[in-house]
Amino acid sequence: AIFPDRTNSRGLNMNIEGLRTPFFQELARLADRQWQAGPVVGGKTLTQGSANTVVSPQDHHRQVGRVHFADQATVAQAVGRARAAFKGWRDTPVEQRARALEKLAELLEAHQAEFVSLCTREAGKLLQDGIDEVREAVDFCRYYANEGRKLMAEPTRLPGYTGELNLLHAQGRGPFVCISPWNFPLAIFLGQVAAALVTGNTVLAKPAEQTSLIAHLAVTLAHQAGIPAEVLQLLPGDGATVGAALTQDPHIAGVCFTGSTDTAQLINLTLAKRQGAIVPLIAETGGQNAMIVDSTALPEQVVRDVLRAAFQSAGQRCSALRVLYLQEDIAERVLEILRGAMKELSVDDPALCSTDVGPVIDQGARAGLEAHLARMKAEGKRIIAEAPMGNCCDKGFYVRPTALEIGSINELEKEQFGPILHVVRFKAKDIDKVIDDINGTGYGLTLGIHSRNESFADQVAKGINAGNIYINRDQIGAMVGVQPFGGQGLSGTGPKAGGPHYLSRFITEKTITNNT
Ligand code: GLU
Repeated sequence: AIFPDRTNSRGLNMNIEGLRTPFFQELARLADRQWQAGPVVGGKTLTQGSANTVVSPQDHHRQVGRVHFADQATVAQAVGRARAAFKGWRDTPVEQRARALEKLAELLEAHQAEFVSLCTREAGKLLQDGIDEVREAVDFCRYYANEGRKLMAEPTRLPGYTGELNLLHAQGRGPFVCISPWNFPLAIFLGQVAAALVTGNTVLAKPAEQTSLIAHLAVTLAHQAGIPAEVLQLLPGDGATVGAALTQDPHIAGVCFTGSTDTAQLINLTLAKRQGAIVPLIAETGGQNAMIVDSTALPEQVVRDVLRAAFQSAGQRCSALRVLYLQEDIAERVLEILRGAMKELSVDDPALCSTDVGPVIDQGARAGLEAHLARMKAEGKRIIAEAPMGNCCDKGFYVRPTALEIGSINELEKEQFGPILHVVRFKAKDIDKVIDDINGTGYGLTLGIHSRNESFADQVAKGINAGNIYINRDQIGAMVGVQPFGGQGLSGTGPKAGGPHYLSRFITEKTITNNT
């Protein structure tokens, strides 16, 4: 069969005045809007009980809206509805499911300014990060729509040696739980949901509690796009209440999770202990991502890519660079340029076009990162560079972008999810030890390599266990359908998001042999 062509979305071209001006007018109009959200069960937003006030990471005196969290009874009710709706959705032709996702992609583009505004106000994201977020969500919808068609439009016909007809069908599994993080509150939220929906599952979506408003708007649009109310329900709340109730439920048919490794392990344990079928867990978790730079690299290019990989999105990407390994012959030159460049970083209000680094997500995140910096300083680690803090930094949850020198990746206990870069110098003869140390963390998400020596780059790429390896560029911003994304070991189960095998974990297979 021939499927429609698909290209990735281009996003908003801010160089075009006719696009830029209305976009900024719309952002200004939305700047103080108060948003409301709550559980969406059976198509209705529930607003009973007390609501939580949402404050902005950029300025904790500014309120963004209010959100009602789901309680256990609401979760149970939603699961019941998702079970009842499953057969109808499973048996809906994949073409219809795919078209609803494509319609959703159009609606996301039409509501771009609202999402960008919310990404800035609720999640503290830069304008450009918000625009990219909408693009990626659009790409996920269209990509999985097409992959769903390929996987499910026709059963696979297999050999029938004795005249039997053997058909292999793919179908949905049942009510699927999607638990998503705050760092990609639209793209990862909808990526998970789109994959589960197109394959014929009903979805119980639990967004990160920090970004419920964005998720609520996305679900409202999904219903407008033709996803039936009972097929996609939203359950905002914290992991201990909503996440636990969902993953303990004996009737759920699978879990798709992006977040910390610790939480993924907890979910795995919960699924193993509960009654009911053995179900898939698709987990995309943390990393302790390195970049290895040898003496043949171009220092200016290295620094450009380090800045982006370590500090874009305030380092709050699971792909972000945490440990930069510099071969000793090039180290001083790279660090000198890095020092200069970090002085020029603008750490400020994410709504300003001139800002390079915005706030981190909340008070807890800031406290954890600052405690790590304090510990490193107490241990006598050398600070290489610190960025200056902009005017509005005392209003919100900002962390000073910092580069510091350590002896080896082994000195770091866990991932520091923020704008902190650790630097290690190594001698050329010790490259095998460097590779062992990086593999020794047990994580395996992204790796950057900077070298003009092809055999060196090859050796490192082969030696390191990582899901996404980038040579002579930065290591963030994987594109849907271009760089399928996801890690190994402690970094995740696979299959990779935005890749051709992702949907395979959301389906069950049925072989029908017909001998009539
Ligand atoms: N896919 C994103 C990237 O390549 C990272 C996703 C995440 O942080 O979970 O930068």
